[in-house]
Amino acid sequence: MTRFTRLFLFAALASGCALAASAADLPKVRIFATGGTIQSRGADRQKLMEYNAGRVTPDELLADLPEVHDVATISVEEISNAGSGDMKGDRLLQLARSINAWLAQPDAAGAVVTHGTTTLEETAYFLNLTVRSEKPVVVVGAMRPFTAVSRDGPFNLYNAVRVAAAPHAKGFGVMIVLNDEINAARETTKNHTYRTDTFVARDFGPLGYTDSDRVVFYRRPTTRHTFKSEFDVSKIEDLPRVDVTYAYQESDGAAIDAFVAAGAKGIVLTGRDAEAVKRGQAAGVVFVQSDRKGSGRVMTSARSVERATPTADNLNPHKARVLLRLALTKTTDLAEIQRIFNEY
Ligand code: ASP
Repeated sequence: MTRFTRLFLFAALASGCALAASAADLPKVRIFATGGTIQSRGADRQKLMEYNAGRVTPDELLADLPEVHDVATISVEEISNAGSGDMKGDRLLQLARSINAWLAQPDAAGAVVTHGTTTLEETAYFLNLTVRSEKPVVVVGAMRPFTAVSRDGPFNLYNAVRVAAAPHAKGFGVMIVLNDEINAARETTKNHTYRTDTFVARDFGPLGYTDSDRVVFYRRPTTRHTFKSEFDVSKIEDLPRVDVTYAYQESDGAAIDAFVAAGAKGIVLTGRDAEAVKRGQAAGVVFVQSDRKGSGRVMTSARSVERATPTADNLNPHKARVLLRLALTKTTDLAEIQRIFNEY
């Protein structure tokens, strides 16, 4: 063996060992794949809204993003590969249980969920209420398909993994990461049908940013979530039916009566038809008052108490639905339901 070969071997071994050591030291992040536009293909790279040309698998997502392996040791659990309209109660429970099982492992650092953006905020808020860990859980999506010119999915996924792998991202509850912003699940809503800056926390702004030098946070959510939540999915068999009514000029009680007839256990109101609400209450349905504006609080008042309709604070109607479903797994007592809406 020449001196040069020996030196080369030494260098190779040394760098090999260093690589092996650093790979083993990387935080472990599991991606729970559910589908959505981030896993969609389009036939035409320029048509950003036409993308029903097949699904992208988690392996393809990762093969396209080798840089993510410098951030974390990645494992994948595929829950589904569908649009977010298919996210239903049993799948939500399965997702929450799977994330809880993963995060209970001592060496798990965090979790990322890929998701369609249309109902992403509902799943994120559900997980905010049912994941029982301080470790970071990040829900990520994309506004442009995987095959588009200037797609947003890969960088969103990369940033989601950075947040899930960051020790200082613990304790913020479930986060939504798109467009370089970190937003709180409870506060954030999809605000635009197709722009990449669609997710906004209207009353609050982002928690922080996934800037290229580091992941930065500037504030914390103050409502109860994740490790401080009372909702335990290991004890919940299924989620009750809860519907939402939309109020507009001349809307009447027809939707309320129809939901009650369909077996709703709870209804979130954005307006109210007093007589239909009374009929529903007589049938045992719990009504919660939200508002269609999606910003600002609905306050508790002598009138809301008299009407026996707990108020949804500043949860938008579809988020109020998520909380009411979970609340109804524990109680139908209206004072208790109001307490839950005040705390979460
Ligand atoms: N249709 C998609 C969905 O699954 C939209 C998206 O992912 O952006 O919600």
